Amino acid sequence: MYETETTNVPVSAANAIADLRSDTVTRPSPEMRRAMADAEVGDDVYGDDPTVNRLEAVAAERLGKEAALFVSSGTQGNLLGVLSWCARGEEVLLGRPFHVFQYEAHGASVLGGVAMDPLPVTDEMALAPETIATAVKPDDAHKPVTRLVSMENTVSGRVVPIPALRAAAEAARARGLSVHLDGARVANAAVALGVSLSDAVEMVDSVSLCLSKGLGAPVGSILAGPRDLITRARRLRKLVGGAMRQAGVLAAAGLFALERNVERLAEDHARAEALRQRLAAIDALRVSEPGTNMVFVTPPADAHADLLAALAAAGVKVNASKPTLRFVVHLDVDDAQIERVATTFERFMGR
Ligand SMILES: *Cc1c(COP(=O)(O)O)cnc(C)c1O
Repeated sequence: MYETETTNVPVSAANAIADLRSDTVTRPSPEMRRAMADAEVGDDVYGDDPTVNRLEAVAAERLGKEAALFVSSGTQGNLLGVLSWCARGEEVLLGRPFHVFQYEAHGASVLGGVAMDPLPVTDEMALAPETIATAVKPDDAHKPVTRLVSMENTVSGRVVPIPALRAAAEAARARGLSVHLDGARVANAAVALGVSLSDAVEMVDSVSLCLSKGLGAPVGSILAGPRDLITRARRLRKLVGGAMRQAGVLAAAGLFALERNVERLAEDHARAEALRQRLAAIDALRVSEPGTNMVFVTPPADAHADLLAALAAAGVKVNASKPTLRFVVHLDVDDAQIERVATTFERFMGR
């Protein structure tokens, strides 16, 4: 067990590379690995894994919901959430830019026969009450049965204001719909707003939360909601092959993440803002508004390729879609790495 220190030496040496592609690249710290190594485990399919049970209880409590389920990924959490609310032939309303519509292979439609209606979002990245009102289908044989509204927070690092989420949720409920939140990074939103996790999600019926992004766990997400929903989700998790056995070694990392790594997200936000301000001072760059842990930078089109080469030469990894680069700050990014990114830009852009 004491070997964890030694086995982790190469991990910290990896800080030579500043990996800002995503907060999914975080690696479990030596303390987290120790918690994993020490975890009490059992067969979770029998309900026998005390660490999984504890994570599910703690997550439900932190999110202010009746029950929670430990799942393998955020995608699986959203999939099980949508499939637990909607039967085949029913419909979920969601924002066109949202992850559930863009980046989850339309799993709810492909696997569950659930229709998705992708709607425009407001400037605040919420669904406007009027948008929901007009998208709910009439009781008509030509239409699917609208059952659910799905929102997201944060959206591309931006915090969706709580009043906007609340207004959408009220519009949904007034029409008999349930409300799900893709809260992959809702802990970033809560910390940025200075509210508890449960206050950040009190307006929704169910929520998914990634443990493996800024919170630093190697694997796993939470789906939380009403007890009967979580019971259905547990059955569906088995159906999609997501039920795991001695998952306590993973749940221990999730517990560590929830207990130790939520408040520290403020450090990531401060570093992202410091980087954002440095880059915003460079005239030729277009830089995003303040976000949580993300900075988006659009260089002049003719500089894109050379800039990427300069960043790579400086040991900076970045999400390099064209025309906009995305930098994501997380617990393995320190001040020196932020400085390295900023000076690479300043030198390259000739300041
Ligand atoms: C990362 C992410 C997910 C799910 O991601 P997994 O890679 O499946 O864990 C869902 N929604 C949003 C907004 C995300 O950023």
